[in-house]
Amino acid sequence: MKDINYDSSFIPEGGPSHATFNTLTVAAGVQWHNPYNAAGANEQIIVGGISPAGSVGTAGGWVQGGGHGIFSPQFRIGMDNAVQFTIITSFGLHLTANAYSYLDFFWVFIVHGPIWSVKAHSSFSLTAYM
Ligand SMILES: Cc1cc2nc3c(=O)[nH]c(=O)nc-3n(C[C@H](O)[C@H](O)[C@H](O)COP(=O)(O)OP(=O)(O)OC[C@H]3O[C@@H](n4cnc5c(N)ncnc54)[C@H](O)[C@@H]3O)c2cc1C
Repeated sequence: MKDINYDSSFIPEGGPSHATFNTLTVAAGVQWHNPYNAAGANEQIIVGGISPAGSVGTAGGWVQGGGHGIFSPQFRIGMDNAVQFTIITSFGLHLTANAYSYLDFFWVFIVHGPIWSVKAHSSFSLTAYM
């Protein structure tokens, strides 16, 4: 529920080998203070929310609401930086949604949020420090 994984050459499931992304993948229970620390430790910037002690959840409601952050004027909002979600549908189906697999699920999740599934992991693209 709290795992975080940095991958500078992340390939979305089902994507071609040249489609690599610089990403941080977080589990559903992660709160923003953890990804900020993980991104900083790898000299990366992540677009994320601002809340007291970084308490708002990263993988769940934030990105489903668009995901505004202090870096958004430069690096856009959270949903623009979403690369992949792994989700569990209300029918118990565990699947991975991104631009290459289950694209319809990927977009529905961003646009409509938690109507019929629970997100287990979210992957966000990062930007290296200038
Ligand atoms: C103090 C504070 C500061 C904030 N600052 C910002 C900010 O800077 N930028 C910004 O964009 N927003 C900000 N918000 C709004 C925040 O992004 C939303 O409240 C968001 O919905 C919080 O998501 P959560 O997962 O932490 O909360 P929750 O209340 O747990 O969830 C919110 C919604 O997401 C759903 N959800 C949660 N986890 C999952 C999951 N794993 N899978 C599917 N659905 C899930 C829930 O069902 C619920 O509908 C702030 C909110 C607070 C309270």
